[in-house]
Formats: sequence, C-alpha cells, structure tokens
Amino acid sequence: MGEKIKKQLVEIAQLMYTKNMVNAYEGNISFRKGNRVYITPSAVCKGFLKTEMIVVTDLEGNKIEGDYKASSEIKLHLAAYRMRNDIQGVVHAHTPYATAYALANKPIETNAYPELITLFGSVPLALYGTPSTDEIYQGIGQYIEEHDIILLANHGIMAVGCDAFDAFFKLEAAESIAKTLFLAEQMGGAKPLPQNKLQELYDIKKSAKKS
Ligand SMILES: [Zn+2]
Repeated sequence: MGEKIKKQLVEIAQLMYTKNMVNAYEGNISFRKGNRVYITPSAVCKGFLKTEMIVVTDLEGNKIEGDYKASSEIKLHLAAYRMRNDIQGVVHAHTPYATAYALANKPIETNAYPELITLFGSVPLALYGTPSTDEIYQGIGQYIEEHDIILLANHGIMAVGCDAFDAFFKLEAAESIAKTLFLAEQMGGAKPLPQNKLQELYDIKKSAKKS
C-alpha cells in the first residue's frame, strides 16, 4: 500500500512539474492513510522526484520513514488533516494566476463564470501566516469546513480532497479559472449574469452538495 501511495505522489508531482505548477522550492503534495502522512520532500525538483524520496510522518509530523526532510509546509497539510477527517489528500502550490490573486489579497469569485459558481462557489482568501511557522495554517480554519480550495494571502493556494489526485484536480481547475477571470479583467471585465440566472447556478451548487 505504501509503495502505491508513493507512486501516486510522484505521478502528481511530475504532472504538476510538466504543467509549470511547481518547482524545486515551491509546492508540496501529501496523502493521508490512517495515522500516516506521505509527503513530498523539501527542496527536491518535482520533476525528478523518486518514490524513495517520499517522507512518511505521523499526524504530528514526526518522521517515521525516509532519508529526506519533509516539506517545510507540512504544517499546512497536517492542520488540514486534523481539521477534517474526510480529507486524505492535500496539494499546495504557488501557481501563477491563483498566487497573483493571493498576492493581491483578492478571493477568486465571480458573478459571471458558471463553472466556478457550480463547482466550488468561490475560493476564499485566508489570512497571511509566515511560511514554515504555526501561523501558516491558522487562517484556513474559518474556511475549511465549507471549502476544498483556499487561497493563502501573500503566499499561494491549497486544495484538499478524498485523495491526492482529487486535491490536485481541484487545484488545477482553480488555477485555470483564475487565469480565465484574470484575462477577462484585461478585456474590460467579465459581464455579470442576471440575478435570476445566478440563482439557478446557486441552486445547482446547492443540490450537488446534497447528493
Ligand atoms: Zn507555499
């Protein structure tokens, strides 16, 4: 089982590297299985990651297995696992468009783009916390019950899911939506949908949540 999880993390890391979503110093991916957390190591280029480089820790971040040092942002991952039991995968990155929103301290939200509204509602902005300190995760507490994707002010973006692939797909979708909204801004701004059409989208989102 451990080997299969490590392979998945390497596969996601390579995908993210190919898509210019991560580099050696930014971005980390983890998977929780029971009381173990499998996480990408610190300062290794994601394109060259090997399964034997994956670090295994307990839920407090104490190393159980691996020669490398766990990502310095492991605190963010551990906090997400502590805050919600259903989370088994966390992906954090500094993807350009989402991170631009984070640097500008703007949540990713729209009244014009149906995909964002029906899939995620919005991507809220959590308060800034100094990287690698305990502050890094404190801002996510108020949003994580309701949101699987959160912007970290002046830092980047994180997504959570039922496994690491699920979290990655959400982060990838959020980056694509952020890019589209940014481009629309350059064209004079996205044209808002009328209130009755927005209501239909809110209803779709609500019924998707129930099912
Ligand atoms: Zn980061």
